[in-house]
Amino acid sequence: MALYLKRAGHRVTIFERFEEPKPVGSGLILQPTGLTVLADLGLLDDMVALGARIDRLHGADASTGRTVLEVRYDARRGRRFGLAVHRAALFGVLFRAVRREAIAIETGVEIETVEAGERATVIFGEGRRAGPFDLVIDASGSRSKLRQCAGNAGVPRPLAYGAFWASLGWREGFDEHALLQRYDRASVMIGVLPIGRPDAGAGKMAAFFWSLKPADADAVRSLGLDAWKEKVVRLWPRSEAFTSQIDSFEQLSLARYGHHTMKLPMGRRLAVIGDAAHSTSPQLGQGANMALLDAAALSHALARADSVEAALETYAKARRWHVRVFQALSLSLTPFYQSDSLTLPFVRDRMVAALARIPPGPQFLAAMVAGTVVDPFKRIGLAELQWPEVG
Ligand SMILES: Cc1cc2nc3c(=O)[nH]c(=O)nc-3n(C[C@H](O)[C@H](O)[C@H](O)COP(=O)(O)OP(=O)(O)OC[C@H]3O[C@@H](n4cnc5c(N)ncnc54)[C@H](O)[C@@H]3O)c2cc1C
Repeated sequence: MALYLKRAGHRVTIFERFEEPKPVGSGLILQPTGLTVLADLGLLDDMVALGARIDRLHGADASTGRTVLEVRYDARRGRRFGLAVHRAALFGVLFRAVRREAIAIETGVEIETVEAGERATVIFGEGRRAGPFDLVIDASGSRSKLRQCAGNAGVPRPLAYGAFWASLGWREGFDEHALLQRYDRASVMIGVLPIGRPDAGAGKMAAFFWSLKPADADAVRSLGLDAWKEKVVRLWPRSEAFTSQIDSFEQLSLARYGHHTMKLPMGRRLAVIGDAAHSTSPQLGQGANMALLDAAALSHALARADSVEAALETYAKARRWHVRVFQALSLSLTPFYQSDSLTLPFVRDRMVAALARIPPGPQFLAAMVAGTVVDPFKRIGLAELQWPEVG
């Protein structure tokens, strides 16, 4: 967002609560939507140089080995792909661009609230203030405090399942261009995602994940690492290539997911973007991509409107349907993959497998994963990127 605004001639300051700007977490998939925004910002080549091209998502039942999910990006349109990246790689590409454009960053400051009148002032923990600004953009993630200032924020609902995640060394013998998953009903999902390199000098890595209820994490830890690894390897013997790299629970970060969607991602002199406006489980892999689309939409609206107020209205309208549809899809599909239900995975194993084979099923699944079931581009003035050849 800061890059778009600076390039449009605005004076921009980024406020970040961490002392040092740094990435958090493991890897994620940049979908055709997010990649289009990065191309628009001129950052696609830098990102592609570090990431892993993902052509398909493949899921199988752990006990029978039967394929129950197969989604190919190119089922929809030639040469489309996802790009799985280490979070440090995405962070590095964006951070270097911010530095090149000499955008001001203040770190170690936690914004508590925003006071808005003719212009807006941000207020930090110790009562310190900054501003006034024409516009404050809340990009502070799913636990945003600022969105309360919009007056229609709602409270995120915690989801039952989360996951242990780790970034590990890549191992040969796995498909370098696929997200691979193994399921035991919907209570266990094990995944391996190639994520390329965190930076140009590093080796190739994988994100490894194991779904579990955060409430059960302590019980799992108390049984010991070996017991957990044994369970994982019993369900997916080849995953030992990754579990053997884990020596302590410290290497596994516990991710918790919550779901909320703001009715209107805006308030007076305040725009809310990314997870602050809409968060969900990463089942469909859309969150970071939606944040990038929000940024592109807001900058497009600001460039064309006569006033900040009009731009905020345009931004909210432009993103409304895409956000609502994907939040609804994510909320309804997550329990098929992460829940205690016995019925939902039974239905999943039969229906999704069939849908993946019979047209237009493959095309629909490809559009869902790509983030294009609802056209996200037209209303925000973007055209989908021309897909490059990527090895
Ligand atoms: C395990 C996991 C896997 C995922 N996989 C995918 C995937 O494959 N594809 C995908 O698109 N998405 C994925 N996501 C979702 C994705 O990570 C989020 O949607 C995305 O990071 C949201 O970006 P954001 O900029 O809105 O918020 P964040 O990334 O949360 O960034 C918020 C920033 O604001 C700072 N901040 C917070 N509060 C304050 C404050 N009060 N004052 C100052 N600074 C503050 C934080 O320190 C942070 O730097 C995944 C998420 C998880 C947890």
